[in-house]
Amino acid sequence: RAKAAGKSGFVIFDEGMHQQAQSRLQLETDFRLAFERGEFELYYQPIVELKGGRLAGAEALVRWRHPVRGLLLPGEFLAVAEETGLIVDLDAWALREACRRLADWRERFPDRGALSMNVNVDERQMVSPEIVEEVFSLLQKHRLPPASLRLEVTETAFRAGRTQAEQRLLALKALGVGLVVDDFGTGYSSLESFAASPFDALKMDQVFIRDVETNPRHRAIVRTITAFADELGLALTAEGIETPGQRALLEKVGCQYGQGFLFSRALPAEQFEQLLAEPSRIVG
Ligand code: C2E
Ligand code: MG
Ligand code: MG
Ligand code: MG
Repeated sequence: RAKAAGKSGFVIFDEGMHQQAQSRLQLETDFRLAFERGEFELYYQPIVELKGGRLAGAEALVRWRHPVRGLLLPGEFLAVAEETGLIVDLDAWALREACRRLADWRERFPDRGALSMNVNVDERQMVSPEIVEEVFSLLQKHRLPPASLRLEVTETAFRAGRTQAEQRLLALKALGVGLVVDDFGTGYSSLESFAASPFDALKMDQVFIRDVETNPRHRAIVRTITAFADELGLALTAEGIETPGQRALLEKVGCQYGQGFLFSRALPAEQFEQLLAEPSRIVG
């Protein structure tokens, strides 16, 4: 896409833009091949009960082990995935992989019976006709209690007029899976849309947590979101907890769950298993 058009109407590319377009195209080509080559991996970040520090579950976060560029984070390739529509395939894969892993862990670590798995679902996948059937058959196949699977969607997926997404959410809710609003507080949803929404839980966005100790307005927002979740009977997780001070503050205002580098970064499956075997390794 050209940023500048000359007076003549001709599009002017400079060398930098050309290279950018090239590497973009390369990434798209690579992305299609990456599925066949099995280059995507899920990492798992612990979700912890703030009071007592119990390991409650994990959020599955996708990584791309690129043969040339190394381990890529979603920020480096999700935009391409979204624009090409390949995000639907990626999310379908992530959902299958996360369910398989959750079932395996629940079987091998039965004393952590309440273990749950959060999976991110792009709004494009949320409107795809197959999503409900997919989730249903995965729950059956792996004999998972529906509530152990939690789908995270951002507020844009259910803003007013998104009737398709809303119907999917209601159908998923009827299956019994958990529905979580991701990055809560940064989207466009009206409070009214929550009155009748099928959500069970909120994840408070990390922008509020980052400076919660020094920014009184963010602290006020954190308190308000906590009260909001409490009043509506929604479980609440704070994202991006990095310091003991942040953790203490969130615990004090009554936020139940936390996730962040203080506890652990997202880990490859084998490393997450070490936490399951030895939960006392979770600090904070
Ligand atoms: P998210 O769902 O809000 O996930 C939380 C992000 O915050 C993760 O980044 C996580 O590594 C990061 N994070 C966790 N704790 C901390 C902390 O204490 N400090 C800081 N600075 N960051 C923290 P990640 O893995 O790079 O993922 C970024 C986003 O990509 C996710 O945000 C999610 O929206 C998206 N994403 C990841 N995996 C998938 C997927 O399978 N499907 C879809 N559709 N989106 C995904
Ligand atoms: Mg998420
Ligand atoms: Mg988030
Ligand atoms: Mg996010």
